[in-house]
Amino acid sequence: MNRENVVTHSLSPLTLILFLLLSVSAVSCDRQDTPLARFQHYLRLNTAHPNPNYTAPVSFLISIAQSIGLKAQTFEYVPDKPVLLVTWPGSNPSLPSIIFNSHLDSVPAEPSKWSHPPFSAVRTPDGSIFARGAQDDKCIAIQYLEAIRNLKGRNFVPTRTVHLSFVPDEEIGGFDGAAQFVGSKEFEDLNVGFVLDEGQASVNDDYRVFYADRSPWHVTIRATGAPGHGSRLYDNGAMENLMKSVETISRFRESQFDMVKAGKAVISEVISVNPVFLKAGIPSPNGFVMNMQPSEAEAGFDVRFPPTADADAMRKRITEEWAPASRNMTFEIIEKGSLRDIRGRPLVTATDDSNPWWSVFRQAILASGGKLAKPEILTSTTDARFARRLGIPAFGFSPMKNTPILLHDHDEFLKDTVFLEGITVYEHIIGSLSSFTEVNSM
Ligand SMILES: [Zn+2]
Repeated sequence: MNRENVVTHSLSPLTLILFLLLSVSAVSCDRQDTPLARFQHYLRLNTAHPNPNYTAPVSFLISIAQSIGLKAQTFEYVPDKPVLLVTWPGSNPSLPSIIFNSHLDSVPAEPSKWSHPPFSAVRTPDGSIFARGAQDDKCIAIQYLEAIRNLKGRNFVPTRTVHLSFVPDEEIGGFDGAAQFVGSKEFEDLNVGFVLDEGQASVNDDYRVFYADRSPWHVTIRATGAPGHGSRLYDNGAMENLMKSVETISRFRESQFDMVKAGKAVISEVISVNPVFLKAGIPSPNGFVMNMQPSEAEAGFDVRFPPTADADAMRKRITEEWAPASRNMTFEIIEKGSLRDIRGRPLVTATDDSNPWWSVFRQAILASGGKLAKPEILTSTTDARFARRLGIPAFGFSPMKNTPILLHDHDEFLKDTVFLEGITVYEHIIGSLSSFTEVNSM
């Protein structure tokens, strides 16, 4: 007994260490408490339109925030559309705060067109995590939180207060989400000095950054004219007048596209025009009545403006050339967003030394070992436009490099290594932006 005891006792520290090593490695094979596991868990919570369920993702994000020791609160400006705000208080709360925004929702997915079920967050042997939202934009939500966890773990204390906002409905315009939040008293009380929102993947080694969004106009032109037999030739028929306009609009479209083809501009820097519907003709049981010229015809166009474009000149063009009253035409423009901020300035965040946030942001990327591509205008829109509208500087940025651009596409994925590297990038960004004190008022 004694001897046995002695033997056991003398071996036990080694046995214990071996046992611990073995159990740690066994547990780490399928640990649920890793950043990747939390990313996969978040991706499995289906928040696709048209019926996104926001309850589960908000509870999940709150549980992560609590595990890091961060305060979380939710606001509900529209029923069942919560805005989650997570806060890391700064040592000098009188300084303007910074917000890192992401959206809770995603666009739908067609499972039959995917190699893996779109809400399974399968991780393939090469490290690719397949899921709707992997790039747009559930990655950044978890990366923000994990970056703060790591900074806190190193006892870093921000000088400015850092907020993370998680908003609903971005994919359907953000009107019940970010627009409500940014327009609220709660937002005003945060004294926000700078916003970082989602960006897009980069196919090369440079990270992309976006300083403006294009603004959409929905333009409908309508023509009316006397109806007549299909065999007759007469002027000012509705269809003929509409077709003349369509030709004019096509020429304008080509002039813009030619600049892109010639390498003088990128798509987001020109005014894009795309026909999206044509409505005309008199229906018959087999299709359309063929021997009658209709008295009404209309066409719709998706027009996208960079904030640098002249909206007044465009309105004049539409009035005089696209839908002239002289050809019995009328038009309607639905502006889906503003081109100017509340002080009348273009909705653009400066990317030069006039914007101190820019220099700090750029330096932070460099310090993380990353490189930034030339700043771009986003071809579409994001929630960043609501902050820019208030005159708050806002960039779009998602740390995804060497990654195909798959937002809204089938087989959306993000590599685990890219995801994990992004956490480090945000550690630098959050660390730098929350520390510098040059901007002390809005
Ligand atoms: Zn998005």
